[in-house]
Amino acid sequence: MARKKNNALEKDAPDSVIDAISKFLSSPPRGTPSEILEAFTAPGASDYLPPKLFLEAVEQAPVAISIADPNARILYVNRAFEDLSGYQRNEVIGKNESILSSKSTPKEVYRDLWETISSKMVWTGALVNHRKGRKEYVAELTIAPVFNHAGDVSYYLGMHRDITVMHKLERQLKFQKQLTEATLDAAPMVVAIIGSDGKVLLDNHAYKALLGDFRGVEPSELFLKAIEQQLDFKLSEVCSKGNGFNNVDVRLDPPGSTSPRWFSCSGVHMDELDAAAANFFSSQQQSRCCLLLLANEITSSRNQVLEARLNMIRANMVEQQMVQTMREAISASIFKLQGPLNIVRAALAIPDMGDVQMLRNALQEALVSGNEAMQELNDSLPTTKVEERVVVNINEILYEVIRLATDRLLGSGIVVDWQPEEVMPSINGRANQLRSLFKFLIDNAIDAINESTNDYREIRLKTLFDEHELIAEIIDNGPGISSSKRLKVFEPFYSGWQHSRGHSGMGLTMSQEIVMDHYGSIMVDEEHVGGCRIIVRLPVSHTGTE
Ligand code: FAD
Repeated sequence: MARKKNNALEKDAPDSVIDAISKFLSSPPRGTPSEILEAFTAPGASDYLPPKLFLEAVEQAPVAISIADPNARILYVNRAFEDLSGYQRNEVIGKNESILSSKSTPKEVYRDLWETISSKMVWTGALVNHRKGRKEYVAELTIAPVFNHAGDVSYYLGMHRDITVMHKLERQLKFQKQLTEATLDAAPMVVAIIGSDGKVLLDNHAYKALLGDFRGVEPSELFLKAIEQQLDFKLSEVCSKGNGFNNVDVRLDPPGSTSPRWFSCSGVHMDELDAAAANFFSSQQQSRCCLLLLANEITSSRNQVLEARLNMIRANMVEQQMVQTMREAISASIFKLQGPLNIVRAALAIPDMGDVQMLRNALQEALVSGNEAMQELNDSLPTTKVEERVVVNINEILYEVIRLATDRLLGSGIVVDWQPEEVMPSINGRANQLRSLFKFLIDNAIDAINESTNDYREIRLKTLFDEHELIAEIIDNGPGISSSKRLKVFEPFYSGWQHSRGHSGMGLTMSQEIVMDHYGSIMVDEEHVGGCRIIVRLPVSHTGTE
């Protein structure tokens, strides 16, 4: 029967034990180890606590204690041992400690136990014991060797306690952990628990797969960066304010892939109880703040929306292109007409034209009708609507343009190496204008490659963010632009193509106008070799409010 923890020896027990010791000391049996006699009779022994107290302490200790000889033959057991094992001391004294063994402990555990204690070291471990009634329990056992004067092991002191309940709890905890992990792993969405220091404390299969897709870059960092940009959200604020977020669409660009991935993210504030010893008594208050991040991939539905948008953009661009072509043709006519009109104007300005009044009149008429023609041409220039500035993402715009150019790229056998900044901040800009800008530049890159005889044909598109500006690089491995033409290519109507293919030479001029309208810059990198590298810089700070 289980005894109360605070068990006291029965009233007459100490006296009977002490009496027994006194009796024993008065005529110790033959073969009694000298250490035992010394322990009670050594000079100075009385300076320490009396042996009776030691004995009582061991007897009353709430942990099962046994003392055995070097062959594990039991010499002494305390009350707690009797309670736990169900054996009375007279039933076990003289027997081997293995009387408690349930035989379900693996042999290796005993081998390790004996190797350790035979080497004069302390062994601690768990094994399965059985009580007198054969009922098994998990015992946490510590065996410490007790040495004689010569330093040899004289006895072994064994202390064990029943940890069956703890073992059950551990198993349950392990099962619950496995259950949680299996459930999380089976979930199709990305799940991660992120500590306030940004470290991932728990994740699932979908998260780990993403880690592979992003070549080892921690997806949690990318998610948080993208969410911070969109919501002005700070991980630390989740802890102080407890506010999470719901269904925030986030775009991530995996390195080396031309397809962006979209996720709908939600974040929930969670508290993890702090297991630090210092917080033992204050577990209610002490907790560690975490964010439960749930990210549902919505790339395919986004792609459908994008496809529909691309069709609209395509139609829009065809219209824009027509207007542009007309504008260019009329502008070119105005430009050309300007020349002869200037000559007529100059001729009329000559003071001494003799009496060729008829010629003067003819010239005057030519000038008037020329000016009228100019005016008509100017009036017939199709007007372009000033586009509103909206929030745009350069990665998205460039990606759309790549998609729009897919047929041309495939037809020309060109490989696109798309290297976007993983998380790109948005800017305020004119989306159609920026689309046109990158379309001009990519069309030029394709044309340039088509003029080269390279077997390997590649366009590399790179975007970067360096705190103040967004940088887009369009790199082709075509013939390149010589340093003498680096500036000239931006002049109106300049065309350096071997085959003009109807180019008016206005593409880079208009690209420059668009970039300047966004307070940015465009340049041909003069140091680039093996093709052409156009660098577009767009500042982030200009919100472009008008
Ligand atoms: P055993 O034949 O007794 O031992 C198995 C293996 O242990 C042997 O093959 C050998 O490698 C090694 N071994 C055994 N005796 C010795 C020795 N004297 N010197 C070197 N190696 C040896 N066991 C429990 O199951 N439960 C307990 O609560 C428990 N408490 C113990 C307390 C003390 C103080 C000591 C010293 C031992 C205790 N033991 C306990 C171990 C016990 O003595 C047995 O070794 C164990 O129970 C295995 O018993 P067995 O009959 O299966 O095999």
